[in-house]
Amino acid sequence: MADSNRKPSLVTRVAQALHFVEAETGAVTPAIQPAATYARDENYAVRQPYWYRRDGSQTTAQAEAVIAELEGAKDALLFSSGMSACTAIIEHLPTGAHVVAPKVMYHGVRAQLQNYAAKGRLVLSDYTAGNLDELAAAVRPGETALVWVETPNNPNWEVTDIAAAAEIAHAAGAKLMTDCTGTPPSMTRALDFGADFSFHSATKYLGGHSDVTAGVLSVRETGDFWDEIALIRKLQGTVLQSFDAWLLIRGMRTLFLRVEKACKNAMAVAQHFDGHPLVETVLYPGLPHDPGHAVAKRQTDGQFGGMMSIITRGTEQTAIDVARFCEVFYPATSLGGVESLIEHRKTVSGEGFPVHPRLLRLSIGIEDADDLIYDLEQALSRAQGLA
Ligand code: PLP
Repeated sequence: MADSNRKPSLVTRVAQALHFVEAETGAVTPAIQPAATYARDENYAVRQPYWYRRDGSQTTAQAEAVIAELEGAKDALLFSSGMSACTAIIEHLPTGAHVVAPKVMYHGVRAQLQNYAAKGRLVLSDYTAGNLDELAAAVRPGETALVWVETPNNPNWEVTDIAAAAEIAHAAGAKLMTDCTGTPPSMTRALDFGADFSFHSATKYLGGHSDVTAGVLSVRETGDFWDEIALIRKLQGTVLQSFDAWLLIRGMRTLFLRVEKACKNAMAVAQHFDGHPLVETVLYPGLPHDPGHAVAKRQTDGQFGGMMSIITRGTEQTAIDVARFCEVFYPATSLGGVESLIEHRKTVSGEGFPVHPRLLRLSIGIEDADDLIYDLEQALSRAQGLA
């Protein structure tokens, strides 16, 4: 029986970029609107909603609409990179605001929080990612403005319970900001778990093809604070450009498909190398003995994600050699693309950032899982002088 109230599922809506049809032409993909400026109308009034590129564009708005749908958000704002989106959140806080953030998180965001703290723009307190007791102890009721959760955190993939963190933050009068870049909204909808801001580096899974840098902030409720963030984006000139927004729309249409395959591949790789004689530890929440397994299962719709790290046996040089000797994995930074990447994280995050010297971060793509496993096998053997 036909049900006139039936709404296509999120998978369908995203695959069709919200059933996009261009009004004038019937085109099923959006056009790219590259204009930097727009002519005033016959009464010399500015046209709505855009009159200059730093406000946004039709193409960027279309990409934002898809993300807002994915996130179940009231609104979303796209930035020229993940870092510029995170910086806008930091910028909108009043001087002296108290922020609680994990000790281990994406090193660029951590560095930015520390830069602002060093200048007295904010006061920063730490907690160990995933440790809710430490988080609760770090929060100052009535004083903390923002609790920052990165889950799973980069590069250890420790899991923080978003709903529990939201309760702690809200009880203290703070807002919760989540960075779930490692598990995109096809599996983790942070706003549904109680986050106030959901952030993603759209450079990663949302784009999915390593050909665009972008960052997105989504919110459950808008308000003056949201207008302020939009104003920061406009005045800093950090809106996502139209060509990049178009690439992002194209990438998001296959989000569910790509992510599902990457997660399956990641599970196969993790299971193969868990207990492997040349690997000391596999850090992957999908493994049943991982401390974050139960929460991750609930928070990622049972998919666990495509990101993991392995700590090799041997020396730091062994780990670097494994990355050098891979022939299918690319020895490159970033994550969330269709191609698998491997990197020696300490080389990238530098001295002073707490990362195991033998940690290799793996971004598992959508290739044949057997090829990925074989490639790591041969690289590990070669690095240990066994091949
Ligand atoms: N947050 C996380 C968890 C990341 O992994 C990254 C980048 O790797 C960022 C934020 C910053 O995003 P972008 O590189 O798009 O500026």
